[in-house]
Amino acid sequence: SKDQWEVNPEELTLGRELGSGQFGLVLEGRWRERKVAVKMIREECMSDEDFKEEARVMMRLSHCKLVQLYGVCTQHSPMWLLFEFMENGCLSDYLRARKGRLSQDTMLGMCVDVSEGMAYLESSNFIHRDLAARNCLVAKNNEVKVSDFGMTRFVLDDQYTSSQCSKFPVKWSAPEVIRYCKFSSKSDVWSFGVLMWEVYNEGRLPYENRSNAEVVESLNAGLRLLKPRLASDSVHLLMEWCWKEKPEDRPSFALLLHELASLANL
Ligand code: ADP
Repeated sequence: SKDQWEVNPEELTLGRELGSGQFGLVLEGRWRERKVAVKMIREECMSDEDFKEEARVMMRLSHCKLVQLYGVCTQHSPMWLLFEFMENGCLSDYLRARKGRLSQDTMLGMCVDVSEGMAYLESSNFIHRDLAARNCLVAKNNEVKVSDFGMTRFVLDDQYTSSQCSKFPVKWSAPEVIRYCKFSSKSDVWSFGVLMWEVYNEGRLPYENRSNAEVVESLNAGLRLLKPRLASDSVHLLMEWCWKEKPEDRPSFALLLHELASLANL
């Protein structure tokens, strides 16, 4: 039986390599008259069967500020995932490459874009779990979209999935995630605060010279990332609001979007 999310490999033309990540190689491709990014999942990296179920859920998520999943090609093993093509690659690299050349209006616009995508995920009761500048992609005109939502659940490498381990994104994680793996839209909001900090620091890594253990210790002592030089007081206040100890004291994405859009006079 032909499922609607199943892509026929004969309709797909593969092109140059775009990069490689957690799950394997990413190639440029062409599918039904449009450019796509094809993620070729490495066998040992992902729980295939679980993901196939979830792909149906993910394909129903559709918003202009989310990188769209178009379909999956399971005739290949390991399987291929087809995503909307984003000409300017990942946000963290983009920021670093344009250091000193991005206006504060552009940075604010990037934060508005991400908060819009995240407000949609929040209203769909979908938790991202790994929001960071490296998991957002840039289209034309500095437009940013959220990518890789929910994908960490299918990573088989337990170095990445246990908060005690080296690859876990501790520097983007809320205290309740580090302590009890309690993910929620409010833990996504914490990560969004760190993403705003990355944007206003032009792609610098948060807590650059500190180990995960040192970061946890300073968070427990109530310390937070410092105000980026390029961020206004009102932008910095929003970051700090995202980093409230108690999840319920943090704003929702709907509220963040409202606040950011009014700062941007949208
Ligand atoms: P993974 O999820 O396996 O870690 P990434 O999403 O980090 O892989 O992708 C690796 C690289 O491939 C990115 O840094 C980016 O340059 C490129 N890439 C990924 N998805 C797209 C896309 N939709 N459009 C354009 N380039 C992409």
